[in-house]
Order: sequence, then C-alpha cells, then structure tokens
Amino acid sequence: MQISTTRNERPVADDRLAEILADPGFGTHFTDHMFTVEWTPDAGWHDARITPYGPLTLDPATAVLHYAQETFEGMKAYRHDDGSVWTFRPEANAQRMVRSSQRLAFPELPEADFVEAVDALIAQDERWVPDSTGEKSLYIRPFMIASEKFLGVRPAQHVTFMVIASPAGAYFKGGVKPVTLWLTEEYTRAGRGGMGAAKTGGNYASSLVAQQEAIAQGCDQVVFLDCLEGKYVEELGGMNLYFVHADGRIVTPETGTILEGITRASIIELAGKLGHQVEERKFSIDEWRDGVASGEIVEIFACGTAAVVTPVGNLCWNGGEAPAPASTDLTLRIRQSLVDIQYGRAEDTFGWMHRVF
Ligand SMILES: *Cc1c(COP(=O)(O)O)cnc(C)c1O
Repeated sequence: MQISTTRNERPVADDRLAEILADPGFGTHFTDHMFTVEWTPDAGWHDARITPYGPLTLDPATAVLHYAQETFEGMKAYRHDDGSVWTFRPEANAQRMVRSSQRLAFPELPEADFVEAVDALIAQDERWVPDSTGEKSLYIRPFMIASEKFLGVRPAQHVTFMVIASPAGAYFKGGVKPVTLWLTEEYTRAGRGGMGAAKTGGNYASSLVAQQEAIAQGCDQVVFLDCLEGKYVEELGGMNLYFVHADGRIVTPETGTILEGITRASIIELAGKLGHQVEERKFSIDEWRDGVASGEIVEIFACGTAAVVTPVGNLCWNGGEAPAPASTDLTLRIRQSLVDIQYGRAEDTFGWMHRVF
C-alpha cells in the first residue's frame, strides 16, 4: 500500500502532551494524525494517506448515518522499557475486521494493509505512546464506514477505512477491583443469524439501554443471556467471561453469537500452558448461580483489550443476588502474565507481540 503523508503543522506542544500523558483517561485526547483509505468498486482500495487529525465533512445523506453499516476494532500499542513500541496480535484484529466486514457486506481490507495502516499511524505519532509505567498505552481505533452519499438501502459503493489513536491510562486506578454485574432478563445483544459475532457499532447501540439499567441497579456492567432460551450466558457486551472450577477446569461460553475477543483467545492458550483444561461450550445461568453457591466455581473473570482481565464480583438480577466467588488468585495470575507479555517484561513464547517502532 502506498501511503502519502501530510504532516500536522500544529502538533500538540511537548509540554501539553506531557500533561495529557500524565493522566490520559480514556478516549478523550487524540493524536496529531489519522489514517484514511477509501474504496470504490472501480478503483478498489485507494488514496491511502496520513493527514492531520480533524473533523470529517460528511454529507447528511451519508449511508452510515442512516443504516449503521460500520465495523470497528480496538487494540493497543505498548511502550517497552527500552523505548520500543509494540502491538499485540495485530493480525488477529485484521482477520476479525475481515470477518466483521463479511457480515456487514463491506469489501475486505487485506490483513497486511490493516497492519501497515496501524503501524504507519503509530510510527507517525510515536511520541503519543505513553511510557510503560502504570499500564498506560496508546489505544488504537480502526474503523470502516459506509461513506457513500445515498439513501437507498444496499451495501455502500463508497467505503472509508480509518485509524485514529488515543492515549489511555490504566483501566484500574488504585488496584484491580471486581466488577459487579446486572443480569438483564429483558434485553439480548444478539440473535441467531444476527451480528453478535461482528464488531459493529449497532451491537453497542442496542446494549446501551441494558447498561443504563445495570447502572440504575447499582451495578457496573450488564450480562446478556442467549436470545432463544434466555438460559445461556453470552458476555458483557464488551468483555468475554470465564468460569474457573474447583478442579482447575476453566469454562468460557461458546454460543455462536458472542464476539470472540482476542484477549479471550489468548487466555485459552495461556491457561492451557498453565496446566488448565479449557472448555468452550454453552454455560447456563443456573450453572453460574449453583456453582457459586456450592463452591464448585471458585473464580469468575471478564476479559477484553481495555481492562485486560477483571475479576467478577456479585451478580444481581430482579429479585436475587449471587455473591462473588471466594478467590481471584488465578484471575490475577493470568492478568499479570498477559500484561507482562504486552509490556515486554516476560518472554513472548507465543510470538504474539509485533514490533512497530
Ligand atoms: C471487542 C469486544 C470484546 C473483547 O474483544 P478483545 O479483542 O479481547 O478486546 C468482547 N465483546 C465485544 C462485544 C466486543 O466488541
């Protein structure tokens, strides 16, 4: 891919950048540049460019604004102690975007072009990658939108893929803390044949009201069940779940409608190497409640790029509550193993890290 670069003539000043990186928060500050490439049926992917970060001018009839033909990815760049900058399994994000694109009737962006685009933006805005203290990182957001100006309903004939980046602070300030969960019995996140396995904004739009209900109930996040029987655990809508059993077995839900996280896949490999048997299967809400009550389930955790791994605390539902499992030992061990690989403090025996700079 041929990428042209127009440098930002007014990059954020060094002292202001130092201020931002000292306490970046999440998703509010953006780097000096952005990456864009466009697609049309005739020209294919073309006009790849890095330009100063800034607003887009979109016609009000742009298809994505009306029919939500959109996919996105979420990943991070980590600075190691020697100053080098790395991403974690970027080809897995590229492959997932291809799968999401297939579901959303988008053209496929080749895996190599995806990785090259992400690398090029990180390299351009390298000074925005925070140092490795306190689990800071540069959060990368690749996304694809239907950019055609047309109100007819069909796959867009003009598609735009972009990458933006935003420095991120530690997800947990002051130590890892369990998330409390609200079990929604009213809303589901995905139906059979729906978009549950695709990373697309529509899934998030449909989860907001359930998340609102969770907050109103005094919980941090919402748990979704399958839409057919209302019986099997799916995920949190942004994080996947794991159930650790007393004999060391670990179960993670597999329903066909969850979004398969890259963190989830990595933990399956990591836990296997730590000697745990990992089962991907349907896992019912009764197994959860009974398992916690009997002590058969000793730990529950959720995982995703943002938090890496977080222990799960109480589960609340209309008229009841299941307590947090007793332990978080394995949860914290798996979390540390992943974080150590990402920040270059442990040997990357899986070959997951990709050097950018
Ligand atoms: C992105 C996402 C996850 C977590 O995936 P990671 O690749 O581990 O960050 C889980 N569930 C949903 C719905 C997601 O969109």
